[in-house]
Amino acid sequence: MAENKMGFETRSIHAGAAPDPATGARSTPIYQTTSFVFDDADHAASLFNLQRPGFIYSRLANPTVAVLEERLASLENGIGATATSSGHAAQIVALFPLMSPGMEVVVANKLYGGSINQMRHSYKKFGWNANFVDPVKPENFSKAITDKTRAIFLENLANPGGIVVDLEAVAKIAKRAGVPLIVDNTMATPYLCRPLDWGADIVVHSTTKFISGNGSSIGGAVIDSGKFDWLKYKSKYPSLASPAPEYHGLTFAETFGPLGYTVYGHAVGLRDLGPCQSPMNAWITLQGVETLALRMERHCSNSLRVAQWLEKHPAVAWVSYAGLASSPFNKLMKKYMPKGGGAVFTFGVKGGYAAGVKVVEAVELFSHLANIGDTRSLIIHPASTTHRQLTPEQLVAAGAGPDVIRLSIGIESVEDIIGDLDQALRKAAGATKAKSKSKAK
Ligand SMILES: *Cc1c(COP(=O)(O)O)cnc(C)c1O
Repeated sequence: MAENKMGFETRSIHAGAAPDPATGARSTPIYQTTSFVFDDADHAASLFNLQRPGFIYSRLANPTVAVLEERLASLENGIGATATSSGHAAQIVALFPLMSPGMEVVVANKLYGGSINQMRHSYKKFGWNANFVDPVKPENFSKAITDKTRAIFLENLANPGGIVVDLEAVAKIAKRAGVPLIVDNTMATPYLCRPLDWGADIVVHSTTKFISGNGSSIGGAVIDSGKFDWLKYKSKYPSLASPAPEYHGLTFAETFGPLGYTVYGHAVGLRDLGPCQSPMNAWITLQGVETLALRMERHCSNSLRVAQWLEKHPAVAWVSYAGLASSPFNKLMKKYMPKGGGAVFTFGVKGGYAAGVKVVEAVELFSHLANIGDTRSLIIHPASTTHRQLTPEQLVAAGAGPDVIRLSIGIESVEDIIGDLDQALRKAAGATKAKSKSKAK
């Protein structure tokens, strides 16, 4: 049976891995080595010329990391992947083959905060421009495209707000404009949504989150569908569609066909930018990937239960979770991620800033920290932490108003998660009531 015909759960465990040819080890070994011995000078030359696949130096490729790359490519229904040291590195490695000074990427303005910073400020140092648009209306992408646009970038499930983007509509816009659509699928994971199946060209991940799943290892990945025709838009994508002088004039999209983008990611992206994933982190991430389906199922069912419970809580003003019938994005969620709305969402606590601070200080099971996608339940009050440099108006515009609390629901017993939030919300409500009373006196 062809591996690519097997089910998602089977591929989560087996894709890319075989018993180790040297030892028979069943679990993928950690090839903790910087470099690999050549058979002879001809072998070395053919590896350096990219005439045969193989391992030279772990900044370019490593056998443990290669298993993770094949596994993720399989789960996303792509044809190749480049693992990177972090999710942010994946974003740079994804755009590097496409961009050059003066060129633009049209970007959804509802993104992970760190991505907005990276794209708004640091991209300028490369001469890259990011044009931000509201992704809720797909036509906003089409209006922002110019002859300098080289890609569209968005998160299909974006927080805060539990926004689900109409992927199929944006993919059509990208296709018409002759630019690839890059989707950050970190929040949904390939278990809930496979953007390449909806017409996206490239997927990026922060594997730091649900993919590794246990909050222990930073990592990222770029996965290619192999479907974008770089040669058709030769003048726009010279890195892929014109001869590369440092590789004796080979043209990546010609020599490697649909794998050209992924080979470039290793042979130029990782080689020159340097953000390779370590074999140890790749191995830890592989342990996580094996249970991705089981964990996501529980993450989603716990999240729906918690969101429904919060919606009825007297101390809660609003809940924004795409999995709730009350969410304006519920319809799109049912189309693009019918198995669940993910595990990260926000709610508003009555009593504003003071109550928000009190809730994060009163939780006992939840961890108060700036991560998501852990087995553990996590909580943060953006206005007093990640977004504290913003003005009150900017806070509201960013969806991080004074009352907003963000949750990443773990896979603990749901009764315990709800119990902890309940006692924290009660404490916060008591505290804010007592305060307003003492003020009244
Ligand atoms: C965390 C995150 C990133 C950045 O990934 P790192 O691994 O922290 O570099 C990018 N996008 C999304 C949606 C994220 O949650």
